[in-house]
Amino acid sequence: MTFHAIIVAGGSGSRSGGKKQWMLLGGRLVLDWSISAFEAAGAVQIVVVVPPDDVKQAQAAYGGRVWIVAGGAQRADSVINGLKALMTDSDDIVLIHDAARPLLKPHHINALLVELETKPAAILALPVTDSLKRGDNNRIVEALARDNLWRAQTPQAFRLHDILRAYERWPADQIPTDEAMVAAHSGINVTLVEGDIALHKLTYPADFALLESLIAGEKPLKQIRIGQGFDAHRWGEGQSVWLCGVEIAHDQTLIGHSDADAGLHALTDALLGAAGLGDIGDHFPPSDPQWKGASSDRFLKHAADLLRAKGAEIVNVDVTLICERPKIKPHREAMRARIAEIIGVEVDRVSVKATTTEQMGFTGRGEGLAAQAVCSIEI
Ligand code: MG
Repeated sequence: MTFHAIIVAGGSGSRSGGKKQWMLLGGRLVLDWSISAFEAAGAVQIVVVVPPDDVKQAQAAYGGRVWIVAGGAQRADSVINGLKALMTDSDDIVLIHDAARPLLKPHHINALLVELETKPAAILALPVTDSLKRGDNNRIVEALARDNLWRAQTPQAFRLHDILRAYERWPADQIPTDEAMVAAHSGINVTLVEGDIALHKLTYPADFALLESLIAGEKPLKQIRIGQGFDAHRWGEGQSVWLCGVEIAHDQTLIGHSDADAGLHALTDALLGAAGLGDIGDHFPPSDPQWKGASSDRFLKHAADLLRAKGAEIVNVDVTLICERPKIKPHREAMRARIAEIIGVEVDRVSVKATTTEQMGFTGRGEGLAAQAVCSIEI
C-alpha cells in the first residue's frame, strides 16, 4: 500500500532541556529512530519538518534520505508545511508522526495501514488506566470518569486530501493538539488502534531514561565465553615446521598425523571448547586417513565456521608457543595475519606469543614443542 510519512520534529525542547530531535537515545539521534522505522516499513516519501534554524543541520544529516521542510509557529503549521511538501496523489495515505516518539516500529505503522484499507482515518492510542482528577492548586476538585478515554499517540493516519481539507476548515483562532482533532472537526471518523507504551513521548529528561531502559530490555543479552586449548608434538627429522599456519625453515619438523601445527591445534581446541563443541579429535579423528598430512588451517577454519553457525562472534584469541627453538619473534606478525585470515577477524584480535621453559621439561630438552591457546567468544 502506497503511503508517505510526515515526521514533525519542530519542538524547541524547553521541557526536556534541549531540542529532543538532536539528542541521543540508545546511541542514535532521536530523529534517526523514526526515519529508520518509516524506511523499514516502506514509506514512499518521508518529509521531516524541523524548526527553520535546524534546516541546515537536518539537510546535512538526512538530506539524501528524506525531504527536509521548515516548520511553522505552531505544530499545526508545521504539519501543513509537511503535507504541502508531499508530491503525490491526493488519495494516498499519509502518516503523521512526532519525532518525540522515537521507538516506532514497522508493526505500529502496519497496524494503521491495515485499518486504512477500510476506514478513512486511524490513530494509535492507549486506553487510560489511571484514575483521572481535575486539580486546582494541587487540590482535587473533581474526579473524572475514565471510561472510554484514550491517550492519543502517533502516528496518525489519513488520506492526504482529507487531512488537507480538514486543516482548511479548522478555525484559524484555535490551536489543535493533534491531527485527529482537526479531522474529527471536519466530520471524519477516526478509528482508535491500540498503541504501545514504547511510543511514550519524550517530554522531560526522565523520559529519556525510561526509553533507554526499554531499548536495553529489547536487546538479547550476550554472553562472553572463554575457551582454552593445549597441544604438543614431538620433534623429528625434517627441514621445516608449520607453526600458527606459517611454514618456517628449521633443522627439524614436528611429527604428527596432520601437519602437526601445534599452535593451530591448540587454538582449534580453544574455539571448540568455548562453544562446547567437543575437541579437534571429535571433528578430525587421527584414525581417519583423509586427515593424514592435512593442513591444519582446515581444522581451524572449520571450528570458526561452526562457531558462526551457532551465532557466536570471536572476540579475541591468544596463542603461546613453548619451545627453545626456532625463534618465533621474526615470524610472529606473519602468524597473527594468517590466523586472522583463517578465522575471519581483524589482526588486532589475534595475539601470538612465545616462551621457553629455561631448558626444563620436554620442551626445554628439545623433545617437543607445546602450544596453548585461549579465546573469548560472544554468543
Ligand atoms: Mg596436535
